[in-house]
Amino acid sequence: MNFVLLGAPGAGKGTQAELMRERLNLEHLSTGDLLRAEMNAQSELGAKAKSYVESGSLVPDELIISMIKEKLTKIGPDKKGFILDGFPRTVAQAQALDKMLSELGAKLDYVLYFEVSWDVVKERLLGRRVCKNCGAIYHIKNKPPENEGVCDLCGGELYQRKDDTEEVIKNRFEVYEEQTAPVIDFYKTKGLLKTINSNTSAEDTYSQIEALISDRV
Ligand code: AMP
Repeated sequence: MNFVLLGAPGAGKGTQAELMRERLNLEHLSTGDLLRAEMNAQSELGAKAKSYVESGSLVPDELIISMIKEKLTKIGPDKKGFILDGFPRTVAQAQALDKMLSELGAKLDYVLYFEVSWDVVKERLLGRRVCKNCGAIYHIKNKPPENEGVCDLCGGELYQRKDDTEEVIKNRFEVYEEQTAPVIDFYKTKGLLKTINSNTSAEDTYSQIEALISDRV
């Protein structure tokens, strides 16, 4: 089964994608995580993406499309499908994805749209902490680690993403409204869109996904 996860920054796409990866044996491809890894590795792509990511603007379509194309072609046969988290974020990316999938002889089964209020997004993003080592996601209030600043899973150091500050969050939200919201209509027209209420806890949100796909697993 192949999924696209859509929703504003902080809608919980990353958290749900990780639960789906573990429980449904899917490949999780997060364009944000891939870009941050490229930036950490100081690669050519990382250098090109840095200023966009840190200001909360979108990285140019052609860079993202070629990055995701390479990853999609490398998914191993042991996986039961993929989750695209943070891609597509523009209609041009959605059209490119259609083309890529038809070349690969694959298709999307579900496009999950995580609906969330601005207040919830702000609270989630300002309190979010991420493990530098394994990428696990915490929240200072809702999901604190056992020891402050230390990942429960691997002992790695937790940090606050540079784009999780109030000013950058506002820009990311505006960029989302302007460039990514039209992608929702793109998939609605294709009859693939399913809306999930993401103002609830991670497990409640996951239950909605489980109910939606229950006849397929
Ligand atoms: P995320 O981790 O999904 O919140 O993404 C962090 C940042 O990476 C975004 O604010 C963008 O700068 C960049 N980014 C991630 N995915 C995309 C995409 N599909 N298209 C353009 N830029 C992206």
